[in-house]
Amino acid sequence: MAGSKGKKGKTGLIFFPAFDWAISPTHPEREERLLYTRDQIFEEGLMDLPQIEEFKPRLAELKDIARVHFCVPDVEAQVTEAHLIAAGSTLTLADALESGQIRNGFALVRPPGHHSMTVAHGNRGFCNVNNMAILVEYLRTKYGHKKIAVIDTDVHHGDGTQEIFWHDPDVLCISFHQDGHTLYPGSGFVNEMGGPRALARTLNVPLPPGTTDEGIHYVLDNLILPILDEFKPDLVLNSAGQDNHYTDPLANMRFSANGYARLNEKLSPDLCVLEGGYAIETALPYVNTGIIQAMAGLDYSHVREPDFEPGRFVQSETMKREIESTVAQVQSLWDKRDDLVDVALSELGDFYRRRKRIFYDTDMINENQEEAVRLCPNCPGYTTISSQGQRGYGTLNNVYCISIPRHACSDCKTDAMEEYKEHIEDRKYSYVYLQDKDRDKYLIYNVRTRNQKSY
Ligand SMILES: [Zn+2]
Ligand SMILES: [Zn+2]
Repeated sequence: MAGSKGKKGKTGLIFFPAFDWAISPTHPEREERLLYTRDQIFEEGLMDLPQIEEFKPRLAELKDIARVHFCVPDVEAQVTEAHLIAAGSTLTLADALESGQIRNGFALVRPPGHHSMTVAHGNRGFCNVNNMAILVEYLRTKYGHKKIAVIDTDVHHGDGTQEIFWHDPDVLCISFHQDGHTLYPGSGFVNEMGGPRALARTLNVPLPPGTTDEGIHYVLDNLILPILDEFKPDLVLNSAGQDNHYTDPLANMRFSANGYARLNEKLSPDLCVLEGGYAIETALPYVNTGIIQAMAGLDYSHVREPDFEPGRFVQSETMKREIESTVAQVQSLWDKRDDLVDVALSELGDFYRRRKRIFYDTDMINENQEEAVRLCPNCPGYTTISSQGQRGYGTLNNVYCISIPRHACSDCKTDAMEEYKEHIEDRKYSYVYLQDKDRDKYLIYNVRTRNQKSY
């Protein structure tokens, strides 16, 4: 398995606090999230160490975004420069990793991304575009990686990342989080496990509010690490949210900075991308310092919050049994993943279809989707999504999206192109999209003006 253990080289860091981007001036997702962390890291002298190298961020290209998202009406409308820099930071570290310049890296950037899904009508859960998914698709397109594992350790379910890779058996998405019955976005249950061809390559571990370091390390040691050993990904990526911390104002968990650092040491991710974490002074500086030291192979045992005493948080027997039972359920899904896929495919025809409703809490948009995936015997199959975004009484946009996967067969390519030609004539839609991952070309057609735009 890939990882930093035994690897040579430095740990790459990028800080990008995004001074000019905030949902509102008093919103918890604001620039101070990273400023205290930066102070703490400088105070600890981490930046002077030979094991650590700071990189300057770059802008992601619009194409890097279009490779993942159908942005409505176009990429420019959904991203600011801050979004492009946050996403671009992860790509800078990807290049440094691939060239052997670093052994691992951590993009400490905002705005976060893991609630952003394939179609982006607006902002949900503080996210417009999914930095992690943009990183995954970049690594696959530019460096030819096939199997990638994304481990989401944010307290909120990584519902956007899950949705983007739902049908992809080569991206293993594991998210542990506070139980969705008790926290936004209200999803991430054990029975959410991927599309028919990728069953149990999406795994969710909902945890009871109040879960401590002990509980999370139980999940890591008994479920996540053994599954990674079996999956054997080219790369392990970590959506590193820090809102499981016991002082986080938006959630109810009991993790410590030391628990997070140990988690990082065991998981040994190649790249980490910051997600949430809103305890600006009491958690983020300590958690981030601990993670960076663990990534750089340094001693992090002294990293401790000023008010933390060992044994402060004790997990109840009930909680312990609940976590053990969830881990056993997820493990059994993973163990029978191939059978699950065989059974699902035997019951389906040429296409798999589903309807979805997606709520954008930040922008108050409701989206209705109808998705179809061709269950092609010769390739991963093309996908179409018909999507309507609505706010209040008005329809924002009615769009049609077509995605051609990498290594698509010629039948799927031809049929997907036919769908595009047919739908650009359909006045029902305002925009029609063609995402051709095989050729790395991305088209947007404005049905009213008859203009086509490409990335
Ligand atoms: Zn979060
Ligand atoms: Zn095909």
